[in-house]
Amino acid sequence: MTAAPGKIVCVGRNYADHAAELGNEVPVEPLIFLKPPSAVIAAGEPIRIPPDAGRVDYEGEIGLIMGRRCRRVSEAEAWSHVGGVVAVNDVTARDLQEKDDQWTRAKGLDSFCPVGNVVDASAVQPDELALTTRVNGEVKQQAEVAGMVFSLGRLVSFISHVMTLEAGDLIATGTPEGVGPVSPGDVVEVALSCGSEVCNSVEGGEMLAPAG
Ligand code: MG
Repeated sequence: MTAAPGKIVCVGRNYADHAAELGNEVPVEPLIFLKPPSAVIAAGEPIRIPPDAGRVDYEGEIGLIMGRRCRRVSEAEAWSHVGGVVAVNDVTARDLQEKDDQWTRAKGLDSFCPVGNVVDASAVQPDELALTTRVNGEVKQQAEVAGMVFSLGRLVSFISHVMTLEAGDLIATGTPEGVGPVSPGDVVEVALSCGSEVCNSVEGGEMLAPAG
């Protein structure tokens, strides 16, 4: 099943080592922003880099797909509202992110949200989730949920106190250390694992410069 979220809620700086690598402090409460649904592409589809985008980075992330409507849910109840997990690449035009006070343009470009196939949440132990990002086969990011500043349950609860989450909505839970730039022709893969098992199909994406 391919994700088709009504909205995409992303979390910034949710791993201390990633916040540090970009010279940022860890936030005192979750830092959230939105990506538009028009940014979503499926595994293997090309990421299109606009000619004026400057540096473009991959950000491998653990994604959650909401299974049912969720509003002001407690941290303890949060996971029961999650329907699936999915690998996400929160592709970011880093130069534009630094230029703008907020990140709509840098994060919202068409094709800047590749998502993998959705794995049923009932097949997943959330405490054992981990992610690996490879660029052209080389491991660039590796992290477990234990390294998060705010847990998956805390994130779902926090966001649901800000806005109603609908079935199908996607939460991208933040990227760990190891982000970096990609160039046309690079292939980025984000893989989720659960314990020793690979629990999500790999998300691939060939970065292509736009025609013309
Ligand atoms: Mg991100």
